[in-house]
Amino acid sequence: MSKGLSLGHCRTCSSEIVNSVNDGVFRDGECEACEYHRYQTQPRLLEALDELLCQTVDMDLAHGIALTEGEEQARAKALAAIAEARA
Ligand SMILES: [Zn+2]
Repeated sequence: MSKGLSLGHCRTCSSEIVNSVNDGVFRDGECEACEYHRYQTQPRLLEALDELLCQTVDMDLAHGIALTEGEEQARAKALAAIAEARA
């Protein structure tokens, strides 16, 4: 039995990634299982981030409470990530 070409190790679980055995679709350093797990959990992560914004900083803004510079930056980053994920 010949061993496939090693593509290095998964950046998430550290297992060896072998070409055409457990390499992911995107080839960005994760094994197929980790890549698939990330794919499966992404919608809930997106929903959770959106809800967190609504219940915290967006609520503050709606009540006229000014955000700190750090909160402003974190909100902008989160909104950009949400927009990118939904594009
Ligand atoms: Zn992995």
